[in-house]
Amino acid sequence: MEQWIEGKIVEKRRWSDRLYSLRFEAQVEPFSAGQFTRLALEIDGERVARPYSFVNPPHDNLLEVYFNEVVDGPLSPRLAALQPGDNLWVSARPNGFFTLDQIPDSENLWMLATGTALGVYLSILRTQESWQRFRNLLLVHNVPSRDHLSYRDEISTLQATHESNFRYLPITSRENAEGVLNGRILAALEDGRLERQAELTLSAENSHVMLCGNINMIKEVSAVLVTRGMRKHRKKEPGHITTEKYH
Ligand SMILES: Cc1cc2nc3c(=O)[nH]c(=O)nc-3n(C[C@H](O)[C@H](O)[C@H](O)COP(=O)(O)OP(=O)(O)OC[C@H]3O[C@@H](n4cnc5c(N)ncnc54)[C@H](O)[C@@H]3O)c2cc1C
Repeated sequence: MEQWIEGKIVEKRRWSDRLYSLRFEAQVEPFSAGQFTRLALEIDGERVARPYSFVNPPHDNLLEVYFNEVVDGPLSPRLAALQPGDNLWVSARPNGFFTLDQIPDSENLWMLATGTALGVYLSILRTQESWQRFRNLLLVHNVPSRDHLSYRDEISTLQATHESNFRYLPITSRENAEGVLNGRILAALEDGRLERQAELTLSAENSHVMLCGNINMIKEVSAVLVTRGMRKHRKKEPGHITTEKYH
């Protein structure tokens, strides 16, 4: 049976209209970057729980999640209403296989995110292992508009620390913004803009690709990667594609 422990909100950030981060204290079991926990609140006498990836690296004491308030969703609007000092339920045991120990070595690691899936990569990028194992790490973040490009300070710190081997590639789909790619990851990959912007190629020979977030992005982009000779990674049959669906 799932074991729940009580957590306490320490900090709340509101990034834009419906985008939030919560930092909280809870004595969960040790986790690996890329894993998720489950958060829950009592709603009308019932404990309503949903999975959320850790944004913080495993060595941080404070836990953090990044999420959007889904209008009419049972849990996320209630999470968005929490304030510092409030309590929430946190599953004691972390979960998930979207972690570097499940990923084979390659020269380049492409991390593709839609929306709040950015968070899981911030946890991974703030571990030593990621910088030791891959020559280049590329973070591709697809959002509707620039105001959804959260965590710019944390990303700037990564850029400053790993100047030559980190690429941050934001893409806005509903706004033509200067200095970022416009459209969707799928189109930017298909027409070559993504690789031109990165000044690196994405091939079965040199890359592993992680995809996280919206199921349509994951399906469509994976299909393009397959045409490049890449395949889903499995322990028994190593490949080049690792995915985690949020919705
Ligand atoms: C392994 C895993 C990890 C996850 N990690 C995160 C995370 O770190 N951050 C996060 O924001 N969400 C994450 N999610 C989604 C999250 O668990 C909830 O589904 C989401 O917060 C909405 O909860 P809800 O109860 O309000 O609505 P739900 O009943 O869960 O969903 C209502 C509707 O909202 C859609 N939806 C769910 N999540 C999103 C989203 N992120 N953006 C847009 N539409 C969505 C669903 O497809 C559904 O149609 C994760 C999901 C999984 C399976």
